Amino acid sequence: NSTAAAAAEEPIIPPVSVKHNQLLINGQFVDAASGRTFPTMDPRTGKVIAHVAEGDAEDIDIAVSAARKAFDEGPWPRMTAYERSKILLRFADLLEKHNDEIAALETWDNGKPYEQAAKIEVPMTARLFRYYAGWADKIHGLTLPADGPYHVQTLHEPIGVAGQIIPWNFPLLMYAWKVGPALACGNTVVIKTAEQTPLSAIYATKLFHEAGLPDGVLNVVSGFGPTAGAALASHMNVDKLAFTGSTVTGKIVLELAAKSNLKPVTLELGGKSPFIVCEDADVDQAVELSHFALFFNQGQCCCAGSRTFVHERVYDEFVEKAKARAIKRVVGDPFKGVLSKALSTSGATTCCGGAENDSLQQVDSEQFEKILRYIRSGVESGANLETGGNRFGANGYYIQPTVFSNVKDDMLIATDEIFGPVQSILKFKDLDEVIRRANNSNYGLAAGVFTQNIDTANTLTRALKAGSIWVNCFDVFDAAIPFGGYKMSGHGREKGIYSLSNYLQVKAVVTPLKNPAW
Ligand code: NAD
Repeated sequence: NSTAAAAAEEPIIPPVSVKHNQLLINGQFVDAASGRTFPTMDPRTGKVIAHVAEGDAEDIDIAVSAARKAFDEGPWPRMTAYERSKILLRFADLLEKHNDEIAALETWDNGKPYEQAAKIEVPMTARLFRYYAGWADKIHGLTLPADGPYHVQTLHEPIGVAGQIIPWNFPLLMYAWKVGPALACGNTVVIKTAEQTPLSAIYATKLFHEAGLPDGVLNVVSGFGPTAGAALASHMNVDKLAFTGSTVTGKIVLELAAKSNLKPVTLELGGKSPFIVCEDADVDQAVELSHFALFFNQGQCCCAGSRTFVHERVYDEFVEKAKARAIKRVVGDPFKGVLSKALSTSGATTCCGGAENDSLQQVDSEQFEKILRYIRSGVESGANLETGGNRFGANGYYIQPTVFSNVKDDMLIATDEIFGPVQSILKFKDLDEVIRRANNSNYGLAAGVFTQNIDTANTLTRALKAGSIWVNCFDVFDAAIPFGGYKMSGHGREKGIYSLSNYLQVKAVVTPLKNPAW
């Protein structure tokens, strides 16, 4: 069987080597001030890929000083917006040139399918930098009418030094969502990468300097959350903080920001997003899309459709087919993936289309154990385990595609973010009921709606409390489309025009008019 085959297979040798493993501060590769390093692992084997410089509070301080100097004295906020835009465009070109190498680093570090990294994530990153390059010279204030003889205008200015903290599930894309708008607006940045996946950001930032980015504008510090991350969140010289990660850590960084210099904070946190299959749905299509909504990226998506609500009229058929679909999923070495044509709903550059060989490789032993604990709790609380439920193969952190039916709202598998390949299917009777239940969550990141009835779609899209609602599609992530959460899924929006305001100050300038008659 395929499980035995996977266990017997030797891991494919990644088509890349690690060239950069230091911190990148003020345009220079440097070791951590402490001299310490930490290992980053290949999740397929648990073996060390590379030892990476371990930044902590001292390195954050050095990086913030470099970013401060680059902002206060350097050319970046002072050059024309067009010059800044050209550097972002050159960086996007270099990302494309080195597409396969960066994708291989991403897969090696994270365990995600290589085809997904190479054909979707790195191209989307280049696309996002081009999108923000387009904004750089279109950011401006307004002239406003006011009562009285005054000329009133607003200036939109960069905030200063932005601190950014990112997670491991989409290391390069999360870097892009944060760095792109911050730099387009003329800020300087210190970014702390996730300790599980430090490699792609260091490589990309080296390319950024080749594209002409001045020293000190973008500084990358690898390291751990409670040391480097906390130092960045509480730094008195950081003017703005952007964080993506768990809700638990989001609360910590918000508190650190408030207790230090009250820097403004944007938060992209967890989710438990409903995917609602209405009674008029084409069941086969609904099964396919709900499968993608949950299993894409090994289930490690903050917006995963992790509560599949299915109308009672189609429920039994749906469960049978969802189970069959999960069993069919090809699990294996992430370097062996091929892109699924069936799932690419709107083209690889705008949609995380989904790979047929979604490795289901979890990022590390901690995540792996956590997911298996949730699966056990699902069984113990009385949900029906339709398929999966165990590790896949004998090596690495692969988990079988897992489907539960008969899930009740108060079970942990229906309330908690599992962040793994575990689909929970719940039954509903009518729209009012499903709206109430779908909204009965501390989270509000995303929702999927599957129906052919325009009135049903309109009712659900207005009633659901979530920052993204995908109707008859899922995970469509264009650079122009804002993303962010209601409730405990976060504060603020990233991507699109909405992200610019995170990185701008608005200054009102009022001048008396000496001759108001004119
Ligand atoms: P995490 O919160 O543990 O870590 C995220 C980042 O925060 C890492 O860089 C980590 O080093 C850092 N960190 C940890 N403790 C810190 C502290 N005390 N002070 C400062 N920084 C600290 O989350 P994770 O497990 O790495 O990532 C998975 C979570 O991220 C999931 O809950 C997922 O939903 C969420 N996520 C959200 C989005 C979104 O856009 N809403 C996107 C991706 C992931």
